[in-house]
Amino acid sequence: MSARIAIFPGSFDPFTNGHLETVQRASQLFDQVMIGVMTNTSKKPLFEPDEKLALITSAITDLKNVHAVAQSHELTVDFARHLGAHFILRGIRNVKDFEYERDIAEMNRVQASDIETVFLLASKRYAFLSSSLIKEVAKFGGDISTLVPPNVARALQEKLGQEEG
Ligand code: ADP
Repeated sequence: MSARIAIFPGSFDPFTNGHLETVQRASQLFDQVMIGVMTNTSKKPLFEPDEKLALITSAITDLKNVHAVAQSHELTVDFARHLGAHFILRGIRNVKDFEYERDIAEMNRVQASDIETVFLLASKRYAFLSSSLIKEVAKFGGDISTLVPPNVARALQEKLGQEEG
C-alpha cells in the first residue's frame, strides 16, 4: 500500500503548542505529515513565510516523519496532490471551528473526492489557544511560555520588541 501522507495546512502565525500537539498525535496516525505554511492570508501576518518555516522546522525536530513546507498560491487539494497526500488534517477546538471546517471540508470534497479531511479534536489544555490570542498577549508582555515552543516565544519577543522600538 502507498504511504499515508497527510498535509496540515494553516497560517501558523505563529506555530503554537496546540498546533504542535496536533501534529504529534497525527505523526502516529500517518506515515508522513507535511505542515503546509500558507502564504496567501488576507490579513498581514506578523511572521514572513520563511520565518514561520524556520520556527516550525526547529520545533518539530523530534518528529521524524513531520516536515514543514511552504504552500504557495494554490488550492489546498492541488497542494495535497503535488505532495502525494490523500489526507488533509485540521484541528477542531470548538463548535465555531467545527462549522467553519465542515464547510471547507465539503468544498474540498467537491474539488477532490479522493482526498479525505481528517479532524483531530484539540486537547482541553490547548482548546482555548489561537495564534491571534498569543500575539495579543505577547504584545502586552504576558506570559506565553507554556503555550508556544521556546523558539517561538523568543521570536515573538524579538519581533514585538522591534515593532514597538
Ligand atoms: P488557519 O488560518 O488555516 O485557520 P491556523 O494556523 O489558525 O490557520 O490553524 C491551522 C489549523 O490548526 C486549523 O485546523 C486550526 O483549527 C488548528 N488549530 C489552531 N489552534 C489549535 C489548537 N490550539 N489546538 C489544536 N488545533 C489548533
